[in-house]
Amino acid sequence: MPDLIAGSSYRALAENPIAIAVVCINIGTFVGLVATTRLRTMLELWLAIALLAGSVDVVLTIHAGARYSLGWYTARIAAVCASSAVLGMLLREISHLYRSLHRAHESLIQSSLRDGLTKTFNRQYFDTQYPDLLDVSANAGRPLSVLMVDIDYFKQFNDNFGHRAGDDCLRAVASALQSGLRRPWDFVARFGGEEFVVVLPNCDTSTAREVAESLRRAVEALDISAPHSPQGRVTISIGVSTSAPQGSATPGELLEEADRGLYRAKRAGRNRVEADAA
Ligand code: GH3
Ligand code: MG
Ligand code: MG
Repeated sequence: MPDLIAGSSYRALAENPIAIAVVCINIGTFVGLVATTRLRTMLELWLAIALLAGSVDVVLTIHAGARYSLGWYTARIAAVCASSAVLGMLLREISHLYRSLHRAHESLIQSSLRDGLTKTFNRQYFDTQYPDLLDVSANAGRPLSVLMVDIDYFKQFNDNFGHRAGDDCLRAVASALQSGLRRPWDFVARFGGEEFVVVLPNCDTSTAREVAESLRRAVEALDISAPHSPQGRVTISIGVSTSAPQGSATPGELLEEADRGLYRAKRAGRNRVEADAA
């Protein structure tokens, strides 16, 4: 190996072809990076700054001529600043990436639980949550109420106004149902077609009837014109069922009770709330 450093002086470096090659490689890489990437991302920008700082470091070191000279110190400080800046920027980019990933993951989970049209919870969410909530309620000795909600004369609404207006109506009804729930653990899910199910944990029969009645009134208050309906506006019918606090009703049995209540409401003239007599 050639003798490049004599004492603390390395003036010999300035004429050495290896040192010149190192400077050329640094500058060449910098030019190549700028030409190929156009520094579109923060990472590319900071990489270019680091390369430039690297080149400055090499040039300063060579021309400083000796250790502990002003040029030598400047080169060391430049190298430390450049590498710290790139490291800091990389950490920032990585944490930003993780935050974006987390947000994307959250929104994916949310959208997979929601019904595309009405934005209420979907049937899949209901099918997994409802049996669990009923189980937890029974174990805690608390009642749980279920409301089966069905829009009245909805086929005629579609026939009269078209399916797009029907979809708008479904969205408006869903939104009224959602806004009508006060407790954070209550939820509405689209059961299918123009039917919704409302789950009210820790809610007894009389409270469930009150909630159902307020939801019925909220939909009526939307005042969506429906000339084919006796009320002249869109209405809903609701069947209510409640599990006994120490009840042994299965999720299916409780749902069937609510369904029976709904059909009693339909037979009794619609736009009403009925709790199953059983
Ligand atoms: P009832 O008062 O007895 O409930 O009568 P109905 O006409 O509401 O009940 P039916 O079951 O005969 O009709 C339900 C209608 O709901 C039929 C279907 O066209 C409509 N429907 C179901 N899903 C959608 C949807 O996503 N969008 C629209 N626009 N209509 C839907
Ligand atoms: Mg129906
Ligand atoms: Mg209907």
